[in-house]
Amino acid sequence: MDKSSASFESTRSFAEKMDSRDRLFHFRDKFFIPAHQGGGEVLYFTGNSLGLQPRKTREYIEQELKDWETLGVEGHFHAKNPWMPYHEFLTHSMAKIVGAKPIETVVMNSLTVNLHLLMVSFYRPTPTRYKIIIEGDAFPSDQYAVKSQIKFHQRKISTQSGSDAQETLTRNSVKNQNATATASDWLVELTPREGETILRTEDILKTIDNHDDSVALIMLGGVNYYTGQAFDMKRITEAGQKVGAVVGFDLAHAAGNLELKLHEWNVDFACWCSYKYLNSGPGGIAGIFVHERHADNPKLPRFTGWWGHDKETRFLMDDEFVPIKGAEGWQLSNPPIFQMASLRASLEIFEEAGMKALREKSKKLTGYMEFLLNEIADERISIITPSNPDERGCQLSIRVENSDKSLFDAITKKGVVADWREPDVIRVAPVPLYNSFMDVYRFVEILKDCLR
Ligand SMILES: *Cc1c(COP(=O)(O)O)cnc(C)c1O
Repeated sequence: MDKSSASFESTRSFAEKMDSRDRLFHFRDKFFIPAHQGGGEVLYFTGNSLGLQPRKTREYIEQELKDWETLGVEGHFHAKNPWMPYHEFLTHSMAKIVGAKPIETVVMNSLTVNLHLLMVSFYRPTPTRYKIIIEGDAFPSDQYAVKSQIKFHQRKISTQSGSDAQETLTRNSVKNQNATATASDWLVELTPREGETILRTEDILKTIDNHDDSVALIMLGGVNYYTGQAFDMKRITEAGQKVGAVVGFDLAHAAGNLELKLHEWNVDFACWCSYKYLNSGPGGIAGIFVHERHADNPKLPRFTGWWGHDKETRFLMDDEFVPIKGAEGWQLSNPPIFQMASLRASLEIFEEAGMKALREKSKKLTGYMEFLLNEIADERISIITPSNPDERGCQLSIRVENSDKSLFDAITKKGVVADWREPDVIRVAPVPLYNSFMDVYRFVEILKDCLR
């Protein structure tokens, strides 16, 4: 038992005490918490899937509706928050959340779209360097995106130089005999060791080493959506770049959850959605990061659109594309104002709370949940998320031994909003912005009740 869990207690009054001492407790009042049919509020633990609505969101969107109503097209320049530069109002807060410089981030599109756009620029396979390393249990959309990118490039490359590639493959499969990854020609999937559920950092690094100069891209989640494991992004980036690969992260489950330092870690690129921990609402506008090193590199290929064009000359409607320096140069279209207004309402809350304080509370809150779950000492349930707080965010993934969905259904009926993943995992994410220690206490009481 580590030091932090030693200080937890299993009484109700302990939860009360923790809430009364929580300096972030008042942030809960900035959100709408859905009602439970049986009365009162639900115990909402799916901020990792769809974050709750800030009470101010409506006001932010209504402002834009109002300006559209009264100004029409003039709103682009004369709205209270002019639409033309609206995305810039979000850049600073977003950059802080992921540990980036403002020039390195922009909000645009949706997550999978952005992943594709960034791979257009950063996945440039050659006959000898063509592999992508991903998590074996990566989120399906990432799997589809990565595989389709591979297919897109494969035909062209194999007709260029089949023998070179074949030679490299043979060499690497020999070298790779002791690696834990299941090596396929182009896609290298990281899988846990036999009998284990999470990936060991040493194995990830070894796989990178084994595939060496055949790796074109390493594309991992910052936090795995299923197990809740947070990867050592700093070391993975270092290892990947050492073998000459590009390193990108999908931060869907990391943004607004972990303290990220993308610039400092020297990550090449990253993308994330904003409707999970960042509370922008269903289908909200997503974010990207492109390291400053790539801010002004004319050799990087990319798909382009007018919103990525130099702002000074955008409306001259010239045929020649001149990219804005930095992440903004990857924008395609003029962005959706209502979605940005919605995201803005939430980012201002993050600005006020600060990631550092949120992460501190998060560690305590999740540690407390882990402590209470372990106290149950029922062999039917176990936690597959790493027990080291530095190797996870707020989410815990609870495995229910030999279970159908009945335990999950039972807690749902009692007002717990969690999430069931086949075949046997209940994911719960106590979110430091709006979940309390009492939420956690009540959840575990309900779980105990339903296990009986
Ligand atoms: C949530 C999530 C997605 C969803 O992608 P969208 O394009 O926003 O629908 C993709 N990848 C990961 C890792 C996710 O967690």
